[in-house]
Amino acid sequence: MPRYDFRCRSCGATFELNRPMARANDPATCPEGHADTVKLLSTVAVTGAKASAAPAPSGGGGGGCCGGGCCG
Ligand SMILES: [Zn+2]
Repeated sequence: MPRYDFRCRSCGATFELNRPMARANDPATCPEGHADTVKLLSTVAVTGAKASAAPAPSGGGGGGCCGGGCCG
């Protein structure tokens, strides 16, 4: 279930809610009880996103650079 971030405009608190996408735009109530909240753009795991996963940088210091003994 996607998680949405909200911010209360009454007290400035931010909070998160887990709710179905069908109810993403439903009004949310701040933990303090305020109803004047806005939904923030957050990183929601969406299946089928176009963003291509960049290859992870080889960090960690495991293995040689070429395996041919050039760096040793
Ligand atoms: Zn509030």
